[in-house]
Amino acid sequence: MTDKKWVYSFDEVNLAEGYVSGSWEGVRALLGGKGSGLADMTRAGVPVPPGFTVTTEACNAYQAEGKFPAGMWEQELEALKKVERQTGKKFGDPGNPLLVSCRSGAKFSMPGMMDTVLNIGLTDVTAKGMVKLTNNPRFVYDSYRRLVEMFGTVVLGIADEAFEAPLAEYKQKKGYKLDTEMTAEDWKAITTTFQAVVKKEQGFDFPQDPIIQLKLATEAVFKSWNGKRAVDYRKATNIPDDLGTAVNIVTMVFGNMGEDSGTGVAFTRDPSTGERKMFGEYLLNAQGEDVVAGIRNAEQIDHLNDSLPEAYKQFMQITDQLEQHYREMQDVEFTIEHGKLWMLQTRNGKRTASAAVKIAVDMANEGLIKKEEAILRVTPEQVDTLLHPQYDAKAMEVAKKEGRFYAKGVNASPGAAVGQVYFDANTAEKQAKQNKQDVIMVRPFTKPDDVHGMIAAKGVLTSEGGATSHAAVVARQFGIPCIVGASQIKIDLENCLMSVDGKEVKEGEWVSVDGTTGEVYLGKIPTTAPNLEEQTDLLTLLKWADEICATPGMRKFAKGWPTKGLQVWANADYPKDAQRARTYGAVGIGLCRTEHMFFEKDRLPIVQRMILAENPEDRKAALDELLPYQRADFDGLFRAMDGYPVIIRLIDPPLHEFMPDEEALLEEVITMRVKGETAGLAEKERLLADIRSMHESNPMMGLRGVRLSIYMPQIVEMQVRAMFEAAADCAIDGVVVKPEVMIPLTGTVNELKWIQPRLIKIADTVMAEKKVNFTYKFGTMIEIPRAAVTAGEIAEYAEFFSFGTNDLTQMTFGYSRDDAERNFLVTYIAEGILPKNPFQTIDRTGVGRLMNMAIEDGRKTRPELEVGICGEHGGDPDSIEFCHIAGNNYVSCSPFRVPIARLAAAHAALKHSGKGLAEDK
Ligand code: PEP
Ligand code: MG
Repeated sequence: MTDKKWVYSFDEVNLAEGYVSGSWEGVRALLGGKGSGLADMTRAGVPVPPGFTVTTEACNAYQAEGKFPAGMWEQELEALKKVERQTGKKFGDPGNPLLVSCRSGAKFSMPGMMDTVLNIGLTDVTAKGMVKLTNNPRFVYDSYRRLVEMFGTVVLGIADEAFEAPLAEYKQKKGYKLDTEMTAEDWKAITTTFQAVVKKEQGFDFPQDPIIQLKLATEAVFKSWNGKRAVDYRKATNIPDDLGTAVNIVTMVFGNMGEDSGTGVAFTRDPSTGERKMFGEYLLNAQGEDVVAGIRNAEQIDHLNDSLPEAYKQFMQITDQLEQHYREMQDVEFTIEHGKLWMLQTRNGKRTASAAVKIAVDMANEGLIKKEEAILRVTPEQVDTLLHPQYDAKAMEVAKKEGRFYAKGVNASPGAAVGQVYFDANTAEKQAKQNKQDVIMVRPFTKPDDVHGMIAAKGVLTSEGGATSHAAVVARQFGIPCIVGASQIKIDLENCLMSVDGKEVKEGEWVSVDGTTGEVYLGKIPTTAPNLEEQTDLLTLLKWADEICATPGMRKFAKGWPTKGLQVWANADYPKDAQRARTYGAVGIGLCRTEHMFFEKDRLPIVQRMILAENPEDRKAALDELLPYQRADFDGLFRAMDGYPVIIRLIDPPLHEFMPDEEALLEEVITMRVKGETAGLAEKERLLADIRSMHESNPMMGLRGVRLSIYMPQIVEMQVRAMFEAAADCAIDGVVVKPEVMIPLTGTVNELKWIQPRLIKIADTVMAEKKVNFTYKFGTMIEIPRAAVTAGEIAEYAEFFSFGTNDLTQMTFGYSRDDAERNFLVTYIAEGILPKNPFQTIDRTGVGRLMNMAIEDGRKTRPELEVGICGEHGGDPDSIEFCHIAGNNYVSCSPFRVPIARLAAAHAALKHSGKGLAEDK
């Protein structure tokens, strides 16, 4: 014999807690999720049917020895005696039989993966007794045949078909379609048939001794821990194999014992809206499955007050108690047997995104949880859902059933869009603007001169490109749902159609583009459109998130490093983006891509003239024309961001991007030559030659960024002048300006040494001219690995670093950011060669390591160095957490992602400071 305790009655949770030194985690590990929950409810005084739990330790000992550990079975029998005393019923007693269920329950829920046997204790003798007691032979023999079947399959390992086939045959003979047509006599006959199946398959009779039923059922649950289903599930969900399952023996209670009995399921708050109102259904004289199966129309829970007022009152009081106890919305199952209420289960309820926000905020306001917990209970993904139009869930189901799924790509910008497809930017814009159509712009990929079509469209779909491709970046910036790299789609631009496996969609036909999942559907799926300003609970939650991040001491770093949490800034090119960024809660602009302004229709010809200028005078004339445009753009940004920093990046892309398409021009020239048209031909030929001379084999690694500034400094000189003139004018008007000039694509400090003093001179000259003074910063993007590893030197010049993680990822991996995601990267992720898409989530071990090095070395040189990130990762929760750990001051992302980032930043701060993390049951 051994003194070891293998079995805990539901009222012995204190002993279990003592054994594991008080930790609730430990209790869950010992008694499993279900067992610890039932025991915890029992302790709280909630009526739970009496029962006990055989521990996971017993399961592990069984696995090791191949038999019950010494003392376990005796303890189980003792516990059963206690249940008999508690219920006044007796196992095997025909006068008042005790029936129990035997249920598995591991530490982590493994739904349906292990086994359960119900109605243990029914035998030929007790069944007769039950009939007398309940006056309901149909119910009794239905229960009995279920026991024989479950026992046969689960415990004895007989195949399901051995039971299903004779039942089907019986029903057919009787002309029944449904089980509900079966009478008491029918179920009795089936019970006999099933017993014969056991005898035939196993060579012995179905056990008529309830104790043997219990013993074999307990053993079967232990064995099911190593069943194939359970092993596969654990592998897929990373649940360790050595946890073992507990076995719960629970007294059966029945809701189908007459009109004073019933059963139901309920949520303590409305799971779709979050409203504080009991939400649920019940049925009188019914079993649990009847409610779930919807065989009969269930009643709304508040009507229970009319039929069983006492039970209802107790139910309301208990569910309130459970919510207070677990400090979470509960999803409960209950049964009323002869007017007596029993709680069979309670767990945290699943809910929609908007209910999650409302419940979290309400519970904090009710004092049930702390604000920190409220923040942690909402995920950034849920916030994302709330900010973008969503498909009507039912309509989406229908579309799937109807086989309207068309293709899948990278989910580049979330939200639901429905519209008519057009295959070029001009037509897309025209149909949207002139004909007021909802448009989906479809292209193989997009370029800067497609932006007008994208902005006019409701959604964008490309067959090439990845999460940081032009289409993706622009779509996110403007909050347009977008899918990129849907490579099954073949686009025929000439005939204005696309096809997948021969299924064609022609210009003007409708599709639905789900930027959240990356899925394209044929036809229209209705959507619902949310609005942040109206979502007061979400605004409250985000305000709390900001307060967390603004608390000093959230990070413990060396002197000069940030001690608060992360700030959230936005990537915004235009004043209206900056205004939106402010509305969404951004406290700075982390990236203004100035070249985007060059692509506007009235400016592009001037930009082209500037690029093609043959002498400095002509170039200066063109730049002088551009200056007022840039000044006006910057002016709007400074005013929108009054009091907050604005980082303006100097021109970055290679110049050929501003020129007409080489192939199209060549075609035009050839056509003119063939047709003998001479007017304008020479000019076009010259232009073609110029474009060809700019050709680079590898333009992303070519004449761009700071290299272009050094090669052709007049452009950035104009930009800095425009920026400081705008800042000075705003300052004169009383706007608090904090301009920061950002130099892109730096690889060596000598580049900064060369360009920065010239630009500072311009800044100071403008301030002197305008007779105003304000502070400003000069800094650089860190996008090239060499810049990261020489950050100590670079920080001698740069007052701030902003990680351009799009390019930094591209250059660290050597993967093209425009191409990788539509071919090998997909395979790499599927094969587990890469855990995640590194263009969406920072690769902490590689790119992250470079970032850590750059921040540390940079701050060694300049302790107060301001550090941010402005690549697409700035809006990704996992990457935001990394930036918090790494010591960034802020993250910058598209205005539409700012709310998500604010919540993610608070999550990171809470997680890593350890503040606000209560142990939840
Ligand atoms: C980056 O490279 O991360 C970045 C923000 O710059 P761009 O995407 O404009 O190259
Ligand atoms: Mg870049």
